[in-house]
Amino acid sequence: MSDLTRDRHSVPESCRFCSGLLLTSVFDAAFRDQVSEERLFFAIPGALCVPCRQLYVDQQLISILGLDEARCTFAIESDRVLQAGASGAA
Ligand SMILES: [Zn+2]
Repeated sequence: MSDLTRDRHSVPESCRFCSGLLLTSVFDAAFRDQVSEERLFFAIPGALCVPCRQLYVDQQLISILGLDEARCTFAIESDRVLQAGASGAA
């Protein structure tokens, strides 16, 4: 086993499949695995390869979301991150 242990850059800078540049942003994405139905997640920070639509998500986040066995089936850049409207008095 000569694998390099995962370094801190869990999200690469270019696509490992097509070497395309990755678009780092926030995405809405769907994941599915063998046992569960497709699940949608919103506002996931990650990096998307535009040419091949491969979504790279931080491994730690993948674990938190319970998606270790899942694969991304769909991803689209979140148009805008919705934020609770600041209804401050003015
Ligand atoms: Zn790619």
